[in-house]
Amino acid sequence: MRPAAVPPAQQPAGGGAVQPGHVRLDDVEMSYPGSDGGSVAVERVDLEIAHGEFVTVVGPSGCGKSTLLLAIDGLMPPTRGSIEVGGRPVSAPGVDRAMVFQEFGLLPWRNVLANVSFGLDLNKPAGVDRKQRARELVELVGLKGYEDHHPHQLSGGMRQRVGIARALAMDPEVLLMDEPFGALDAQTRELMASELLQIWSLQRKTVVFVTHGIDEAIFLADRVVVLSPGPAHVQEVIEIDLPRPRTEEVRSSPEYAAYRERLSALLFGRVPATPHGRPAR
Ligand code: ADP
Repeated sequence: MRPAAVPPAQQPAGGGAVQPGHVRLDDVEMSYPGSDGGSVAVERVDLEIAHGEFVTVVGPSGCGKSTLLLAIDGLMPPTRGSIEVGGRPVSAPGVDRAMVFQEFGLLPWRNVLANVSFGLDLNKPAGVDRKQRARELVELVGLKGYEDHHPHQLSGGMRQRVGIARALAMDPEVLLMDEPFGALDAQTRELMASELLQIWSLQRKTVVFVTHGIDEAIFLADRVVVLSPGPAHVQEVIEIDLPRPRTEEVRSSPEYAAYRERLSALLFGRVPATPHGRPAR
């Protein structure tokens, strides 16, 4: 099976070496073991994501979005098919990938700076001034002045900024984000989306961002991957041809409204027929 193609503009120039943030999933199936023979969470997923591309993943609750992220992170091996990052097979977590979760996962006894430098303190990368790097990242996510604060002294949005800075600390090629703004109120969520795009424009990581928010999925993405009800497979990939940088005005454009309508139709009904004349699952 061939993965959903990378848009031509994002392919390596001259068909050169695979770039480090390039993600490829080929016929991936993911199963959870169980006494009744286990259950398939993800099946037949083919997907190719270009280095530096921002892809959002949507699909019904429980369809397998998080499982797919765990697979790319290397925390859970596929039961079938293969996953490559930067042209290398994924068999375990690695410093080329970092995960950001909804529930922040900060260490309450560490202050902001120490939380951001956590991965650096564990991995001790050679030639890196860990404190200096952590300070730069704290500034990047807009928390300069809060270095000595502890998580309980921060708002939800600030805590997730720390989570993002911490994920960036080891300078990964791929950021895997599992509903990172799901616990935030609507206003903070929109603000964080804009701020994430600013960080992404500076750092240009490949981002795979799982969300159940249609607006978030469109606003952030180069492409939206729509997963089917579980076991998840790729139902459709929608290229978001909206100008960058994305401003709030984008949300009121007719193009944005058309993407919204298309995604709503795919996720909540009025599912159009496939080219084979059958409704897509
Ligand atoms: P989503 O992120 O789309 O909500 P998940 O990837 O969390 O979906 O789950 C996909 C399917 O796998 C669901 O049916 C869920 O019940 C099942 N599942 C998730 N985690 C486990 C687990 N640890 N053991 C068994 N089944 C699981």
